[in-house]
Amino acid sequence: MTSNSPVSRPVPTVVVVGGGFAGLQAVKALGDKPVKVLLVDRNNYHLFQPLLYQVATAGLGPEDISYPLRAILRDRGNVAFRMAEVERVDLAAKKIVTGGGDIGYDYLVLAAGAETNFFGLETVAANAVGLKSLEDALALRNHILSMFEIASQETDPAVRREMLTFVVVGGGATGVESAGGLAELVHLVLTKDYPHLDFAETGLLLLEGGDRLLLSLPEELAAFAAAELARKQVAVRFHSQVVSFDGKALQLKDGTQIATRTLIWAAGVKAAQVTDTLGVAADRLGRAHVAPTLQLPGYPEVFVIGDAAYLEQNGLPLPMVAPVAVQQAELAAGNIARLLRGEQLAEFAYKDPGVLATIGRSSAVASVGRWRFAGAFAWLLWLAIHLIRLVGFRNRFVVTVNWAWDYFFYERAIRLILRL
Ligand SMILES: Cc1cc2nc3c(=O)[nH]c(=O)nc-3n(C[C@H](O)[C@H](O)[C@H](O)COP(=O)(O)OP(=O)(O)OC[C@H]3O[C@@H](n4cnc5c(N)ncnc54)[C@H](O)[C@@H]3O)c2cc1C
Repeated sequence: MTSNSPVSRPVPTVVVVGGGFAGLQAVKALGDKPVKVLLVDRNNYHLFQPLLYQVATAGLGPEDISYPLRAILRDRGNVAFRMAEVERVDLAAKKIVTGGGDIGYDYLVLAAGAETNFFGLETVAANAVGLKSLEDALALRNHILSMFEIASQETDPAVRREMLTFVVVGGGATGVESAGGLAELVHLVLTKDYPHLDFAETGLLLLEGGDRLLLSLPEELAAFAAAELARKQVAVRFHSQVVSFDGKALQLKDGTQIATRTLIWAAGVKAAQVTDTLGVAADRLGRAHVAPTLQLPGYPEVFVIGDAAYLEQNGLPLPMVAPVAVQQAELAAGNIARLLRGEQLAEFAYKDPGVLATIGRSSAVASVGRWRFAGAFAWLLWLAIHLIRLVGFRNRFVVTVNWAWDYFFYERAIRLILRL
């Protein structure tokens, strides 16, 4: 080689852990950068978690809200995918450790999301169902439908009531949407399937530890949601903290006992377990503290984004929601490119697109900027935004058809009990 021949630099490898909202957006944004990208996820699909409750309440099938990662990445020349469980991150050795071997990186984007937080309540973790994965949603669908099958053959009214009482814990968007979806499944659909069951024996409860629903929305919208749930025969109880659940009865902190076979836990999440292995400063939910550039302090080549990251803006922690994850992914990908060009990095500034939650057919609440909506218009907004955000034309089409079918015929097409 002569001294003035061009020097070819090796192309740096960016490993992205997690193909959820943040990881997938990071991979897309890195697609036109001079890097090799390896996406690693334990699942071979991207999951649209906001519609998980509809899988649990038999409105949609699992394949309608998920999409194979390899199909999404097919035409991206610089991106590869590996399905693997990441056991830990070795920051010093710049590698991730997976069940299938170690993978080295030049840059790491950790976007491993969150998992259900049972707040150390062991009996609840053992007997309640969370709503964080397709497995959770399918287990819940099977369980709810099975309760009706078994109850329809049960002769003891007390046992029947226990089977037909469904309790949702957590008054955030997931809890409200699950309770509303469940109420419609029970009172609009299953009443037709079980004409001989006495539906006065069913009970739907939403328990919230605080004194209002939907903390991320203005109080008047929360009150609207509570009234709508009451109209759907969901009993909303505030100041109700669950302390244990043995599969047949739950106990509240104030000593109240509620006989039920079903506890749907929508009371909170914490950062995915692999985030702990970073061994860095974290908040009480295990989210890694990141700099405004989204880098891990002391490790400029490592970015943590989405639900796994903790960053404050205007003195408040950023919420664990999809728009934060997507916007952080854009910034992290841009900052990797800036590092490669030797430029100054940009800092994250969240642009809040608004908050929505649906309570069921023709009913939702929305807060967008200074605007507040409650009722049918908010519901149409909710439908449109969820359809736009779903990945894949097929999924949007199938979900639209399912929703229309459900709306006009009061049917839930997917009420199958599977032997999993
Ligand atoms: C039921 C429910 C409803 C929601 N509704 C809304 C809503 O209406 N609007 C909204 O904005 N937000 C909503 N959210 C929150 C939103 O889904 C999250 O904020 C968002 O998914 C965060 O994106 P993320 O990429 O950080 O994590 P995720 O989307 O959770 O992706 C994390 C990925 O990492 C993978 N992973 C995790 N650990 C490992 C490991 N050790 N090895 C390999 N892979 C791993 C997972 O398989 C997953 O694919 C909801 C969440 C839930 C659970």
